[in-house]
Amino acid sequence: MPATFDALKRVIPGSAPMAPATGTAPLDIPIPDVTDLGSSIHTLDRVHTDITESGPGAALRTARSAAADFRREFAATGTPAHVSTHDLVTLPYPTKFGLWRAPASPVPFLFITNRMVVIRWLDSDGTPRTLLWEPSDVELDSNTPYFATLRDATPGAVQNQIVREHTTVQQALAREGIRQEDVDYLAFDHLHTQDVRRLIGTTTPQADISPEAPVPAAFPNARLVVQRAELLAMRDLHPMQRPWYQPETFVDLDPERLLLIDGDRLLGPGVAIVRTPGHATGNQTLVLNTGTGIWAMSENVVATECLTPEHSTIPGVAGWARKWGQEVVINANTIESTATQYDFCVLEKTLVDRAQADGRFLQFFPTSELTPSVFGPGTRPTFEHRGLRHDA
Ligand SMILES: [Zn+2]
Repeated sequence: MPATFDALKRVIPGSAPMAPATGTAPLDIPIPDVTDLGSSIHTLDRVHTDITESGPGAALRTARSAAADFRREFAATGTPAHVSTHDLVTLPYPTKFGLWRAPASPVPFLFITNRMVVIRWLDSDGTPRTLLWEPSDVELDSNTPYFATLRDATPGAVQNQIVREHTTVQQALAREGIRQEDVDYLAFDHLHTQDVRRLIGTTTPQADISPEAPVPAAFPNARLVVQRAELLAMRDLHPMQRPWYQPETFVDLDPERLLLIDGDRLLGPGVAIVRTPGHATGNQTLVLNTGTGIWAMSENVVATECLTPEHSTIPGVAGWARKWGQEVVINANTIESTATQYDFCVLEKTLVDRAQADGRFLQFFPTSELTPSVFGPGTRPTFEHRGLRHDA
C-alpha cells in the first residue's frame, strides 16, 4: 500500500489540535470497575512494593530475583495455540528517544516498524480466545500531537518516502482466517498515540470521523484490556505526557468495552500481561511461552540489543553502556519515571529466553522494532526479530 500521511489530512484537515498543556480540567474518561481477567499473578508484586517503599535502586535487585521466579512458574503454564506477528507501519522516530543518550549518529530520526501480534488459546473450559496485541489504527494514531506536529513540518513528498504502511489490522486478520467478531481482547503495552474509537466504537457521534451516528466497532465482541493506572493517568495528563496521548478520543468510549485490570494476569496457557511501569504510568508487557521458550513484547526498548548493549554494533551504544555502567538502553520519549523503566527492562531481560538465531540476543521483541533505513545512517540494528510465528 502506498504510504502517505496525506490521506490523514483528508480525514482531519489542518493541524491536529494541541490541547492546552496546563490548567486543563480532568477529562471524563470512563473508569469502570476492575475485572478478574484470567488469574492473578503475585510473583512480581514485590518489585512494585520496593519501588514504592524503597525506591528504584532496591527494586532493581528485586526485579532480577522476582523475574527469575516468575520465569519458572510461567513456563509451567503451557503454550498458546497460535502466535503470529503482522507488520503495520514503518515510520520515523526521534533517535534521541529510541536510543536514549547512547547513539553516536547525529541523524534526528531512526525508523521503527510497528507490528500487531495475534494470540489464540483455549480457556480451561475449552472456549477459544483471541487477543490482538497492538492493533493500532495507524490512520487515527497519526493525529497524536507529537506526530501531527512533525507531519505538519514535513513536506508531503518527504512523508511519502519515509512512512511505509504495510497492512491494516483487518487485512492481517483476514490472512489468518480470523473473523473480526471472533476477537475477544485488544491490548496495547500503553496508550501513547492510540485512538481506539474505530476498534471498539463510541456511545455518541464523533465530529471528526462519524458526525451523524456513534462510531461502529470494528471488533463487535472485543474489549480493551488496560491497566486502571493508565486510564487514570489519561484523565489528567501531565504536560510531559500530553504530546503522546489522544485522551479526548477516550471520553465517549462505552465503559462496557473497557476491561480494566490492576496487576499482573495470566490470561491463558503461556499468555500473561504484566505491569512494567516507567515508560508510561500504566505500561504493561505481553509475556508468551512458545516452542522456543519465553518471549516478552513491549515498547520499553526499540531493539533487543538494547537489553544486551554490550553486543550492539550500532555506533555509540556499547561504548555508552560500558562508560556509564548501564545494562539497558531505554526507549525514553516521556521520561515519566526513567529509573523505574530501567528496572522493568531488567525484569523483561531476566524472564525471557535467548534468541535461537543468535544467543547474544534475547527473545525480547519490541512491538515497535528498530528497522534499517537509508534515511537513518548509524542506526542499523545488529539483530532484528522481524517476525514470530508459533502454532501448537
Ligand atoms: Zn510510548
